[in-house]
Amino acid sequence: MTIKICRISGDGIGPEIVAEASKVLDTVLAGSGNSAVYQDVLMGGCSIDKYGVPLTDEAIDTARKCDAVLQGSIGGNTTTSPWYKLPPEKRPEAGLLKIRKALGLYANLRPAYLYGELSESCPLAEKNGEPRKFDLIMVRELTGGLYFGARHTEEVNGILTATDTDVYNENEIRRIARTAFDVAMKRRKKVTSVDKANVLDTSRLWRKITKEVSAEYPEVSLDNMLVDNCAMQLVRDPEQFDVILTENMFGDILSDEASMITGSIGMLPSASLCETSFGLYEPSHGSAPDIAGKNIANPLATILSASMMLRYSFNMTKEADAIEEAVRKTLSDGIRTTDIMPADKVKAASMKPVSCSEMGDAVAARIK
Ligand code: NAD
Repeated sequence: MTIKICRISGDGIGPEIVAEASKVLDTVLAGSGNSAVYQDVLMGGCSIDKYGVPLTDEAIDTARKCDAVLQGSIGGNTTTSPWYKLPPEKRPEAGLLKIRKALGLYANLRPAYLYGELSESCPLAEKNGEPRKFDLIMVRELTGGLYFGARHTEEVNGILTATDTDVYNENEIRRIARTAFDVAMKRRKKVTSVDKANVLDTSRLWRKITKEVSAEYPEVSLDNMLVDNCAMQLVRDPEQFDVILTENMFGDILSDEASMITGSIGMLPSASLCETSFGLYEPSHGSAPDIAGKNIANPLATILSASMMLRYSFNMTKEADAIEEAVRKTLSDGIRTTDIMPADKVKAASMKPVSCSEMGDAVAARIK
């Protein structure tokens, strides 16, 4: 089988980390008698520089004709880059919102998993004298809510006033809730739905519909949690969570918090899914302009995003497992990019420091 991948390398470290993910993907596919063909398109700052817009309609058409999208990261230094002098709808991030909407990518899955080998990177105190051990996944609604509702700024009685609108309908809530319950069925069968139902109507509807959907999944338990409490619980006791289901803005904030407690943003993949098997796979981090072009970025989040792609879009479980196992083996062999080096100098001395491309080589070499 040949899979057709739309590849968006993007800006900053994007091209470096996507090259390593492609290397690992090609290795694992060759091992199982499959292959990938790549259609490269521009998005973000590189597209602004070439076409004057962060994402062209032609690029979206190319993506639609592929089986999945593998994406690096887009954007530049938001203080110094000329891209951020443009109006908001022409900046790099507008490309992200446009592609999510155009491809109907309504479900964003972000695992936050603490590798035993990296437990020292976790900023949380040990629990009962033991290193932390958590494994949760955030299911965030991606195409509704405050980020897509009507907004405007106007003068009201001489005072500048800005309005953003938070809108969700029951269908949008139902489909993302089903995604979360489906994910839970493949894991520890526990959904925590996060909202602000003590204040917001959208949250009260969210709670009602989520409860209805839970009736379709009798094996999965459902808890509701207010978003402010969830923010606390994530740093107090992340072990309690399996699947966290939430709306767009809460998910944006909480998923960054969840990634931070693993101590290493360079490790965390993500998948954005639609109603078919098509999906867009990208690391959770940004384009890291501060280290771009130095071949020192950690490519593991992008490599693990490629693994999610094989699992969710192509049902290639064995190949996805092989990538994850190779990453684990690479870490247990002490191979580290700078961002995941132990802070302790003695421990760091026993590790093997590698560049971005060497990390890709190391994972590819450990694919079974
Ligand atoms: P960032 O995630 O790019 O970087 C934050 C810090 O983490 C930096 O110190 C960076 O060097 C480090 N870092 C990130 N990824 C790393 C990796 N793989 N290996 C090693 N270190 C890594 O966040 P930022 O600096 O706030 O944003 C930079 C740009 O990225 C901005 O333009 C922002 O809008 C954009 N961004 C894009 C996406 C996306 O493409 N989906 C997501 C978030 C931010």
